[in-house]
Amino acid sequence: MADTATTEYTKPLPNREDPQYAPFWEAAKGHRLVMQRCTQCAHIRWPANPVCTECLAPGFEWAELSGRGELFTWVNFFQGYHPEWAKETPYNVALVKLEEGPVMLTNVTDAADEDLRAGMPMEVWFDDVTDEVAIPKFRPRS
Ligand SMILES: [Zn+2]
Repeated sequence: MADTATTEYTKPLPNREDPQYAPFWEAAKGHRLVMQRCTQCAHIRWPANPVCTECLAPGFEWAELSGRGELFTWVNFFQGYHPEWAKETPYNVALVKLEEGPVMLTNVTDAADEDLRAGMPMEVWFDDVTDEVAIPKFRPRS
């Protein structure tokens, strides 16, 4: 893994000004995984949404999640659709199903591709790509 703290990060960064996601990125900066939890039915909303996808209630609170889940599925990108990611091909894009229910689009690190298995336990870690941005990624959990 590259030491991104001392090298310039040249990939696109998330829009941290989007009010729907600003709390998510602020928590990630502090290495905490948070998502909206419906105050009516407790459903965890992901992606963030102005209303609950289960009960349509608008109310929510930002809840800290365990950061644990399991690998649901993944693909390997062999073609670079952006010049900065092209340098890293092949790389995986994965779906991790969190213990609290939501499925998160992410990258799996710290595992050889041939060792990945659907259902393998995963844990979040935060890649500090800049001083202001940490991107949640997942790695195998023992
Ligand atoms: Zn709800």
